[in-house]
Amino acid sequence: MVSSARKDSSKKRKAKQNPLLAEKLFDEYLEEITNHLGISQLDLTKDEMKEILFPIFKEIVESYQTKPALSSILNKFASRYDQLSDYISSKLLEIRGSKLNRNQLEYVIYNIKKGVNKYISDLYRICLKESDREELLNRLRIAWNSFGQMLPAICPKCKFNSVAPNYTCLVCNHILSDKEMEIALSIREIVGIQSKEALTKMLKNETIYYLNNSLFTFDELPKGNNVYEIRISKELKDYIRKLISLNSPS
Ligand SMILES: [Zn+2]
Repeated sequence: MVSSARKDSSKKRKAKQNPLLAEKLFDEYLEEITNHLGISQLDLTKDEMKEILFPIFKEIVESYQTKPALSSILNKFASRYDQLSDYISSKLLEIRGSKLNRNQLEYVIYNIKKGVNKYISDLYRICLKESDREELLNRLRIAWNSFGQMLPAICPKCKFNSVAPNYTCLVCNHILSDKEMEIALSIREIVGIQSKEALTKMLKNETIYYLNNSLFTFDELPKGNNVYEIRISKELKDYIRKLISLNSPS
């Protein structure tokens, strides 16, 4: 027999959802959800699937007063697909680390977005182990240039636009020599289109500054992000002198 006290409390909870509903439904709907999201081929254990999907699933289920239909849940997942595929990619890297299998690696490379900033070095190293590394790296470069910190200087080692103004590559950690940096920023090409006055001014300095595809001396340098300090090598000085002499009327 049910006591009156219990009857009252069950009345109060009437509008509230059963706290175990999300857990129960997750088991029931999991297969359809993973098929719908195109992640059933990722060979994840049920526990891993749960770690990745359950927080979102629970949030969706709890936004309903009563048991939501599978189709409603699938629609909610689909409406967040872009965000979700980035999240799943990052979670895969978090859970599996460098032990991603081939299917997982491909999923990550093609779906990662903002997460590329955190995991770029790991992904680069994983891709290097694959026989078709160039193809994978090309795809990773697209993700990096679209969602990562695409920088003007191209690394001579990994070929990503990823060399920071401190001369260090954010992808492969290579530290560039002065000569490499000169090439990475196409300094000679930019020097080649300067006026004779600008070249003469450059020669009076030990360093010049690269910003947005232009070169400046220290006193002309405007404010901006990603300013690269370039130490003018003897070879570069010789090159500048040569350009000045070519520009001089004979
Ligand atoms: Zn690099």
